[in-house]
Order: sequence, then structure tokens, then C-alpha cells
Amino acid sequence: MPLLSRPTRTVGRNEHRELLTGTPLMSTVIQAYRFAMDPTPRQRRALASHCGAARVAYNWGLQLVYERLEQRTVDPTVQVPWTLADLRREWNRAKHRVAPWWAENSKEAYSSGLDGLARALKGWSDSRYGRRKGRSVGFPRFKKKGRTRDACRFTTGAIKVLPDRKHVRLPKVGVLKTHESTRKLARRLEQGSARILAATISRQADRWFVSFTVEIERHLPASNGMGTVVGVDVGIKHLAVLSTGVVISNPRPLEHRLRKLRRIDRQLARCTPGSKRWELARRRLARVHVGAANLRRDALHKLTTALATEHAVVVVEQLNVTGMLQNRRLARTLADAGLAELRRQLSYKTAWYGSRLLVADRFYPSSKTCSRCGWVKAKLSLNERMFLCASCGLVIDRDLNAARNLVNLIDNVARSGRETQNARAVDVRPGPAGLATPKREAGAESLRIKTGTVGA
Ligand SMILES: [Zn+2]
Repeated sequence: MPLLSRPTRTVGRNEHRELLTGTPLMSTVIQAYRFAMDPTPRQRRALASHCGAARVAYNWGLQLVYERLEQRTVDPTVQVPWTLADLRREWNRAKHRVAPWWAENSKEAYSSGLDGLARALKGWSDSRYGRRKGRSVGFPRFKKKGRTRDACRFTTGAIKVLPDRKHVRLPKVGVLKTHESTRKLARRLEQGSARILAATISRQADRWFVSFTVEIERHLPASNGMGTVVGVDVGIKHLAVLSTGVVISNPRPLEHRLRKLRRIDRQLARCTPGSKRWELARRRLARVHVGAANLRRDALHKLTTALATEHAVVVVEQLNVTGMLQNRRLARTLADAGLAELRRQLSYKTAWYGSRLLVADRFYPSSKTCSRCGWVKAKLSLNERMFLCASCGLVIDRDLNAARNLVNLIDNVARSGRETQNARAVDVRPGPAGLATPKREAGAESLRIKTGTVGA
């Protein structure tokens, strides 16, 4: 990519320390490597069967919890299984009766479902008794086939990345072909700098993925020796616009997918909900969405590596989660998905390369503010591509204006003291400890997923 010139690298603070002490600063981080798979029809059935088994165990456990809670209203000595160990004990006692076919799947499948339930129950009780931050968590609900994400996690047994870099081995399912090379992970495993903790299989539209949760020894520098601040605005027309004026366009295949997405979305709107045609269009839409997301992720990997290595501070906007749920416009959905992916990648890459990620306050009107004089426009609709300032007459591309405002924000923070920083922007650089918290592994989704193809 010709977009970011690479200035000569100066020696960072930590490298000095390394030279002095002779010991590199290594940290253990938890990282995920995700690969698309090419299963045979038989393996597809086995994968689906494992996900189904996880769901059955989850639902069975939840039913049991309800029954026991009910019984306890009359008999207070009744024990309600709440932890994974309790649930697993009950399951092993009941499985011959409720799932005589249990031996067809790895025992990890049932364990995975029960683990999900135990976490959901804990989330609910923690939330209820004020031990958990954020929005309140509801009581776990039954999982419905086709409505919930198909996934199953293996933590023990024959989990392997084969040395040919084209196959992986999973318990009971056997040797599966991967769609892409596993070399990034295989290399680390061979060197002994990585250890597989778990493997999660999941389905997206009709593609199967395996995600390895891996413990990795990584060098985390405190600084990358750069001194510049860069603001990034994620768009729909372009992949991203930087405050430096650089526009990174969408790669051609992504552009193509996005056009297709818009077309199917319009078709879907014309179908009667619930009809056969509607169902078909919905499936097609899901498939194209997955394809577009993969292409965008790959393109963003290149960009985020460049940003994290070539600037001291990267500023992005905060994702408006509640607004995201309310707005059903396709354009907004796509932009938000891009921003979420950008932030996810930057949050770990800035830690890897010694830069900082700053997230602007949600209420900071980065697109509505003039980046030259600070005048705020009352309303800016999504289709207005240019920003016109009524105060100083600036005419500028909408996304570039937003990116510049993000940088201005940081300059203001630097000039005024700490308070502004707290009010306006949040430093989200996670320390090595934050990165290595294995608690966040709940679903592969919440992890820092790294594709096998792009990225460092
Ligand atoms: Zn102005």
C-alpha cells in the first residue's frame, strides 16, 4: 500500500532498556487464530452435530435449573446446579436417558453447551447482585435451532494444527482441510512460542470456521518511537479516511460485494416477510454479508498494522451501540461494522507495536464540527458527502473533516489538562495484563481474532 510513507525508525524507549538490561520485555497474550475450513459433506454433518449437541446440553441444563428452582419453592433443601461442575455431574447422570446418542459426539460438545449456560447463569447473578458492570443481564433463555449462533468449543483431546499447514485435527471430527494456510500459527507452534488452549468451531452463513485460542509469548514495547497523531474515520464509500488527507479506497472485490448487498437488500424489502422468496433473499443477504465482512477485515488488517507502527497515537470514534441497534439502514450498519472491526484490530495492535489508541467521546460531533473553526452544524444527513462551513467557508470532504476533528480533539487534550482528557477522550490502551485476561474468552467473538492471511 503506497498510502503511508514509512519514516526512518528511531530507537524506542524500551529498546534502550532492553539494550541496558539485556532482557526483552516479553508478555503472554491470549490471541485467536481463525481459519475457514473446507469440510467434506460427512464432516459438515459432524460439525453441525457437535453444535447441535452443545445446544441440546445447554437447553437441557436450563430446563433442569427451572425445575429445581420450582421444587425449591416447596423444599428449600433442593440443590440447583449453577456451576459447570454441578451441571456436568447432572448431565453425566442423565445423558443415557435424555440423549442415548450422546457417544456420537465428543464429550466436549456437551461440556461446551453447559459451560455457556454456567457463564450465563453467573452473568445473571453477578448482574443482579451488583458484581457486574454495564447493562443488566437477563436470565438465560432457551436456544432455538437456526436462531442462535452455531458454535462448539473443544478444550481437551486431539486438537492439532498439522505440519502440512493445510489441515487441522479436532476430537471426534477428525482431520479437516483448511481453506487458507495455517502457516502463521503453525510457525509459532513449531518455534514453541505458542500453545493452543482451545478450538472453537462456528458457522457463518454456510461456511465453517475454526478458531484457535492460543497463548503466545509476545514482545510488547512501550513506544514505537513515533511522534505523530493520526485520526481515522471509517466510511462506506471508502474503507477509511485519515486526517493526513490520505483516502484508502475499498478493495475492488469488497466494492463489488457492497453493490450486491445493496441490491439484495432492496429485493428483500420488496418481498413479503415469511414468504419463500423472502427466506431465499435473506439467506443470500447473510452470505454476502459474511463475504463482505471477510474482505473488509483483511483490508483493515493492512491499514491497522500501518497505523499502529507509524504513529504514536491513533484516534478513532466511539461506536454508538444503542444507535446502531435502532438504525436499520444498511449504510449505517456497514459503516458501524467497519468501525467496530477497525477498533478491535487497533486495540491489540497498538499494544503490540507500542502506540496508543484513543477513542473519542460518543457525544463528540466529529462529522458535524468544522475542523478549521469549530463551528457546529445542526444537522448533517448521511448522504451529504461534503462539509460546508457556514462560519469560515471551509469546503471539505465529510470523512476527512471528521478525521481531522479527531486529531484536533487530541491536540486540545494535550493543551488543556487531565480533566478534558477524561471528559472527552478515553485512553483504551490495555496493559499487558489486560490483554492476557483469559476471562474474556467467553466466545471467540469477543477475542482479538486474527485471520490466517493478513496481519503481522
Ligand atoms: Zn469553519
